[in-house]
Amino acid sequence: MNESKKPDYLVLVNEDNRLPENFEDTIEIITVENAVGNTYQIEKKTYEAFMRLREELLENDGIQAELISVYRTIPDQEATFNRYVEKFGMDYARTYAALPGHSEHHTGLAIDVGVMIDGKLIRTIEGMLELDHLFKIMQSKLPKYGFILRYPKGKEAVTKIGYECWHFRYIDSPALAKEITDQGICFEEYWEKA
Ligand SMILES: [Zn+2]
Repeated sequence: MNESKKPDYLVLVNEDNRLPENFEDTIEIITVENAVGNTYQIEKKTYEAFMRLREELLENDGIQAELISVYRTIPDQEATFNRYVEKFGMDYARTYAALPGHSEHHTGLAIDVGVMIDGKLIRTIEGMLELDHLFKIMQSKLPKYGFILRYPKGKEAVTKIGYECWHFRYIDSPALAKEITDQGICFEEYWEKA
């Protein structure tokens, strides 16, 4: 990491916007472990903010949130995308996995969060969608810690990604996260206005 550079916490990565060249040089990536012993790489401030969110959920709501996917390199994303295609077909893969180079997970600022239920970490798409009521509680606390729900329900036509109750994006500004959330807009729509 180059100490003189700061990451652009508002970077937009989606189907139309590829990860900027050299973005990865601007982020400080650390290695962390979740409660079930999986290790992940993640941008440092994103992790610190997640851990504060996690603590509040655990203490106030009895919800144990655990990281299930974070930073992915472009080759990682190729593997994920191909696995989805193999398992579920191209349509499903295009709905739930971005094309390599176009995943927000390349930024280190995006987190997928599963929930611990009776000692088991729920991390499948179907399992998490069934626990949407718990994710709604999580989502209500995101802005306070500088996160937004990145792929909200009802915005599929704009984000080009299906509703993902588990995918949160760190933008390093609780005030802006609150503004985006309160306006009921997705990150693409924020960028259109900006
Ligand atoms: Zn994700």
